[in-house]
Amino acid sequence: MNSLDKVLSEKIAAMQESKLLRTLKTTERLKSAKVIRNGKKLISFSCNDYLGLALDKRVKKAAIAATKKYGTGAGASRLITGNQPLYDILESKIAKICGTESALVFGSGYMANLGAITTLVGSGDIIITDKLAHSCIIKGAKLSGAEFKRFPHNNIEQLAAMLEKYRHEYKSCLIVTEGVFSMDGDSPDMPALQEICHKYGAWLMVDNAHDLKHPIHGENTIIMGTLSKAVGSYGGYIAGSKILIDYLKTTAKTLIYTTGLPPAILGASVKALDIIEKEQWRVNKALENAAYFRETISKEIDGLEMGSSVSQIVPLMIGSIEETEKISQYLYDNGFLVSAIKPPTVPVNTSRLRFSFSAEHDKKDIDRLIATLTRFYIK
Ligand SMILES: *Cc1c(COP(=O)(O)O)cnc(C)c1O
Repeated sequence: MNSLDKVLSEKIAAMQESKLLRTLKTTERLKSAKVIRNGKKLISFSCNDYLGLALDKRVKKAAIAATKKYGTGAGASRLITGNQPLYDILESKIAKICGTESALVFGSGYMANLGAITTLVGSGDIIITDKLAHSCIIKGAKLSGAEFKRFPHNNIEQLAAMLEKYRHEYKSCLIVTEGVFSMDGDSPDMPALQEICHKYGAWLMVDNAHDLKHPIHGENTIIMGTLSKAVGSYGGYIAGSKILIDYLKTTAKTLIYTTGLPPAILGASVKALDIIEKEQWRVNKALENAAYFRETISKEIDGLEMGSSVSQIVPLMIGSIEETEKISQYLYDNGFLVSAIKPPTVPVNTSRLRFSFSAEHDKKDIDRLIATLTRFYIK
């Protein structure tokens, strides 16, 4: 065996041993939160298309219309000739929704975080993130060259203590957290966070990738979001002051040195944002579905640990990888797709089932899901 394959196969064997090896499973998505996997039709509680827009006829039509008019590929970076007209429409819509002066669309949410964080802070600065912040925030913080620290999840007192201790040693200070945490479905106390940032002269960046409600406002605030989840399309964005956006256009490497998004994607995003504005029931229904699940299942089964979810994302904390996979498999056998979430996506010994609720689910789906879980727990 050549040395590349030899080194990698040893690493793969170690990951397999600890059950951390990941594989891709071919999945076809259908309307009404259904999917097909291995020829089996399942109700999915694992998609981030929370509002059911990725398969919406009107959004598909907008994507096709954009392709017909502008072609399939952007042809160049946005800074060269890839900045086609739909970007202006999309960015002014995003800025309006976020209540900011300006917005900038990146190739994905991952690229938005990576590109913005690495250029907002650097050597001589400090970045402090929530301990559970998403991979692309952590990666950005590490790549930025700034001093990097983390505060315990949603613990504002600890953050304040860290700022008291370290803030004066650095020039700029960036605090990064999430509006709704991707694997926990909980939210930070935003007014308290803003107050602390104000007190210590820190900038606040909030990743709203999973936040279905309107984002926050405030001074020194940077809003990040994605078009790949609730919007049912693809891409990421930063929203904030005009000066922030002007600065990113010249400095964010993940904007400059990558090709613009395909027109179809921009057309789909514009249409989907229009629909979200007009059909507010979609957001309400996704949130109500999750609340119904949390309330109903805690009446059926005692002692379930569901964290502090206040959103469409509800974790069911299990702990061990084996047990989590066992329940996930049981649900699969009974017609439900609920992925097992394991380290390093979540901390060691906090493996969980992550239920994501959408406007496409109805009460009957949720009742059947709860009945199946009840059979598993109370056999
Ligand atoms: C999914 C996600 C991202 C990345 O967004 P993409 O558009 O999928 O690249 C960023 N932050 C959080 C919290 C996420 O869950």
